[in-house]
Parts: sequence; structure tokens; C-alpha cells
Amino acid sequence: MTDLQAVLDSIYTELQPRIGEGKVADYIPELAKIDPAQFGLSVVTVDGKVYSVGDAAVPFSIQSISKVFMLTLALGKVGEGLWKRVGREPSGNSFNSIVQLEQEAGIPRNPFINAGAIAVADVVLAGHEPREAIGEVLRFVRYLADDETVTIDDKVAKSETQTGYRNFALANFMRAYKNIDHPVEHVLGVYFHQCALSMTCEQLARAGLFLAARGANPMTGHSVVSPKRARRINALMLTCGHYDGSGDFAYHVGLPGKSGVGGGIFAVAPGIASIAVWSPGLNKVGNSQLGAVALEMLAARTGWSVFGD
Ligand code: GLN
Repeated sequence: MTDLQAVLDSIYTELQPRIGEGKVADYIPELAKIDPAQFGLSVVTVDGKVYSVGDAAVPFSIQSISKVFMLTLALGKVGEGLWKRVGREPSGNSFNSIVQLEQEAGIPRNPFINAGAIAVADVVLAGHEPREAIGEVLRFVRYLADDETVTIDDKVAKSETQTGYRNFALANFMRAYKNIDHPVEHVLGVYFHQCALSMTCEQLARAGLFLAARGANPMTGHSVVSPKRARRINALMLTCGHYDGSGDFAYHVGLPGKSGVGGGIFAVAPGIASIAVWSPGLNKVGNSQLGAVALEMLAARTGWSVFGD
């Protein structure tokens, strides 16, 4: 039996001199203010044990990691019909790219690039006012994390609303192709607020535990999705969760994972544990630089890679 706390402690000690590496996202002004010299890591095992190091109790902006929870919600609403609106292939392009959308008639490659996530937000919005949909997202994530203290940072949402030109372009473009049903400002209102969910590593690892445990959270007993759906969400995270860095993440870490420009990465060791790491400095493709390094160390030391130990 691996002593997980000792593994986490060793990773933290070894990475200490590198904390602060990478570049914080500055295209969202509120995120540009974050101190890069922070690092947190939490592991929650399917038998309900929690292991943490560093700044694992500091809330951060989960940004695109929210796309996993939104995909779960949207699949719950419309089931496999979702795949008429969004594909399941890696894009090989950056998270906010527009190039494929025209060639592919407004159908985004996958639910984790921005265009795909905006289409997913449109599905979650159906039948609601934007405010209600945002409330539903927050309630869902609180339920998953079993923690009522999870919040949405309105300052971050507002900051992104003021500067989210590319996301407006993507949404308008899809609306022209009739792949967005609601007013673009409403859809992006939902999208910017989901991205502004503020969570700690520990909350995030707890919230995602159902994906490591065949669709049910063993700590709360809540059944969230079927085992088949959990497996499929994990497959999408593995192939598309890090945008044009997905291949490299699979190569180095070997776990399904989803990154966000706030510097968080959520990862799943199926049947074993869920993991959340946070370090705000990003690499060239917009994924947490030290976060990925920490996960590579964790996977190597535990033998958790889905491709074998
Ligand atoms: N809110 C961010 C955006 O739309 C999310 C991007 C990300 O985390 N990769 O640009």
C-alpha cells in the first residue's frame, strides 16, 4: 500500500523551488491579479480518504474545469441527443479557436473547447432564465462536493464578460449556424458564471469523485450518473480535456483530466481516486505548468496511469 500522504509531501517538497513557474492568464483581468506563487494538491480516494498538501484549502477560479460538470448536467437533460450539437473528437487547436467552426458548420469538435462548452451551456439554459440556470449549476456543484460553501466569484464573471470578445465571436458564429438557441448574452451569462466557480482543491476532488467511482459519490452515497456515462466522460477528458495539449498530458500523466486557465487541473484515476491540483502559472497551451508536473510525479509514484504502471 502506497503511503499517499508521504507521496504528496514528497511532491510538494520537490516542487517547492519551482513554485511560481509559468504565466498567469492575463486576458481575464481579474485572473491577472492572482499571485502565481501558490500550489495546492488534493487526492480523494474511493474509500473516502482525503490527502492534501500546500494551498489545497485556498479557493481558485476553476474556469474550464466547470465544463465537466456542465457536460454532466447537459447529458442528464438531453442524453445522447447532445451529440447532435457537439462532437467528441480532439480539436488539435487552442481552447478558444474559431477555425474549425466554419468548416464544420457550427458544430464544435468537443464539449471542452470553448465553442463546445458554450453549446453545452445553451442546452443547460433551455427552459430557464439565465439566473435560474446559473443557480442550478451552483446547486449541482455544491451537491457534488457536498459543500454549501462553494461560490461563484461575480468579479471574475464580470471581468470576463467585459473582455470575452472571442467567446462572443464563437457564440454568435454558432448562432448563425442555428447551433445556439438562446440570445448570445444569455448563453454567455451562464458560461462566464460557470467558469467563475470558485473552489478549493479539496472541494474539487470531492465534487469529481463520482467519476472515479462508477458514477456515484462513495462519500455521500449520491448516485450522479451511470457507470457507463462516467466512463464516457472520462474518455472525453482523456482525449480532449487539455485542448491541443491533450496528447502531451496523456503521454506524461496518463489520466483523464480537465484543465482551466485559473491554473487548476482535475484528474481521475478510475476506480481509485479523484485528484485536484492548482498552480496558477500556465504553460504555452494554457494549462497549469506545475500542475501537470505534479500529476506526472503522482502518476509515476502511484502507478495510477490508465495505460499501466
Ligand atoms: N473562461 C475561460 C474562457 O472562456 C475558460 C478557458 C479555460 O479555462 N481554458 O476563455
